[in-house]
Amino acid sequence: MTAHPEQTVETAEMNDDAADQTEAYRAKIDAHVAKQTRRFKRSVGGITPRHCPICDYRGLFPAYGDPPRFDARCPSCSSLERHRLVALHVQREAPFGPDDRLLHFSPEASVTRVVQPVVGRYETADISPRRSTDHKLDITAIDLPDGTAETGFDIILCSQILEHVDDAKALSEMFRILRPGGRAYLMTPVCEGWAESYENPEVTSGPDRRLHFGQADHVRFYGRDIRDRIRAAGFALREVVAAEPDVRLHGLIRGETLFIATKPAEGDGGQGE
Ligand SMILES: [Zn+2]
Repeated sequence: MTAHPEQTVETAEMNDDAADQTEAYRAKIDAHVAKQTRRFKRSVGGITPRHCPICDYRGLFPAYGDPPRFDARCPSCSSLERHRLVALHVQREAPFGPDDRLLHFSPEASVTRVVQPVVGRYETADISPRRSTDHKLDITAIDLPDGTAETGFDIILCSQILEHVDDAKALSEMFRILRPGGRAYLMTPVCEGWAESYENPEVTSGPDRRLHFGQADHVRFYGRDIRDRIRAAGFALREVVAAEPDVRLHGLIRGETLFIATKPAEGDGGQGE
């Protein structure tokens, strides 16, 4: 899996073998930088007022991320685009209730604020000992018992984790600790133009991972086959996609997808929607 079907530019090889021409273009680059810096300064504090469905803030959202995304971060509750997509789904469909036991991996405070009040038991987990969570868990080898109808989790929230880890193990572990009929809410960066996810075992350093996968600690970039990977763990799949008018009103990323993976209930044929 070292080559990628849609990969046409051999970036790493170019960097290794050919002369870097940056300095020959230094004057042009400097002129571009000056112009882009002026634009960035105009936009970094927010371009168009939006509404945060989590804290009800209305106004400008500053840019966030590296590289930055504009109109991204609520200045009041710190929510990002993906958190607001989850919040809108929870507010509209009320998928969680007082009988639900929910496990939130790498909890984001703005999402906690939305889900904790509506579930019966809210528990948090992280692999890092530096974070004060209820559980210290490696999502690829979860130190919790199999999920029975009585003891399993009803809901798992797992955002921006699968692209860091062995996802086959993580998905099968989440499947294992859910009760039958339980659901995992999954989010991760996906390139919908790619049929296949891009993985490359030769890419191991932070700078190379950033170049290949978009972040120094990512190990793949998903294509559309993320759906097959989720189903391969046994889940049925439903998707909630960020669309208009929510994208413009609430500052979402166009087409960003919340994957809702359901562990079939006992006696269920296990077919998804
Ligand atoms: Zn907010």
